Amino acid sequence: MDKIRIGIVGYGNIGRGVELAVERNEDMELKAVFTRRAPETVKIMTAGVPVIHTDDMLSMKDEIDVMILCGGSATDLPVIGPEIVKNFNTIDSFDTHAKIPEYFANMDQAAKEGGNIGIISVGWDPGLFSLNRIYAESVLVQGDTYTFWGKGVSQGHSDAIRRVKGVKNAIQYTVPVEEAVEKVRSGCGPKLTTRDKHLRECYVVAEEGADLKEIEETIKNMPNYFSDYDTTVTFITEEELKANHSKMPHGGFVIRSGETGHDGNKHVIEYSLKLDSNPEFTASVLACYARAAYRLSKKGETGARSVFDIAPGMLSMKSAEELRAELL
Ligand code: NDP
Repeated sequence: MDKIRIGIVGYGNIGRGVELAVERNEDMELKAVFTRRAPETVKIMTAGVPVIHTDDMLSMKDEIDVMILCGGSATDLPVIGPEIVKNFNTIDSFDTHAKIPEYFANMDQAAKEGGNIGIISVGWDPGLFSLNRIYAESVLVQGDTYTFWGKGVSQGHSDAIRRVKGVKNAIQYTVPVEEAVEKVRSGCGPKLTTRDKHLRECYVVAEEGADLKEIEETIKNMPNYFSDYDTTVTFITEEELKANHSKMPHGGFVIRSGETGHDGNKHVIEYSLKLDSNPEFTASVLACYARAAYRLSKKGETGARSVFDIAPGMLSMKSAEELRAELL
């Protein structure tokens, strides 16, 4: 069997996760890791796989079937995505929701120019949660959809706390409010505000001699990040942070409730994820979509795609016949 030859672009949390995911998919092999840093300073886990500077990417043009782009959504992907898809099939986890239409258009144009496929915004949200929203909304045409996130680490909010004066280190968890989740599950279609749906838990290591009261107030009143939420601030030591908060768990729920018929029959659809490692899980989603990109490209298709455009059977290692026999 010819293996799908994978390249990883950017070696951070998601990049490392993709390396581990490729190892678990027997129809794939990792050909190279690309980085903007000096390659000799980036140590990867797989023996015998080269780390190459992104400037030299084209030297691998004929040796890679799909590049999995693992750069950040804020500034990396909008630039490198369209450049790379001109020369390679790509998968990425672009998650700046408001900019997805613009990113899709740019990727579509560049992918068509290069004759390649670029599947964008793959992961769990956007990604698997998006698919569950579309299935639920298409089935229960009249109803309400709710997404709850957590309990999980929000990188952006953790970074915002770290910038507060007197803070040495910090981590922030987004936590769904249990009563709100239960209300939604009951199918009564409640109207919920931002504050009703999620809590924000902050664990902060303060610098020596810092004013703890001031730090707490600054965090709780930070506009856009915390002021619209019930927020708790707990001061801990650096050792506690390392021992109890070094994993990157996440997860959440997509719930839709709606009615059918004339008798007020209610239905509730729920999809939930509970992830020990957000990056390893996201990377596993990226890996199976790389298989779909490979197959679409082999069929001669080009342009950008989102998860909405990919048939589920394309993700599986199994053949269409096996899927019909085993999973239908
Ligand atoms: P990281 O910050 O860990 O990595 C981003 C990039 O930074 C890497 O590609 C790497 O590029 C560079 N980098 C990483 N470590 C270092 C280092 N020690 N020194 C210097 N540069 C470094 O981000 P994540 O991997 O955690 O996340 C990437 C994106 O994935 C996020 O921006 C987010 O948008 C998206 N995401 C999407 C999800 C979804 O469900 N759709 C879920 C989770 C994340 P290089 O090697 O070139 O230097």
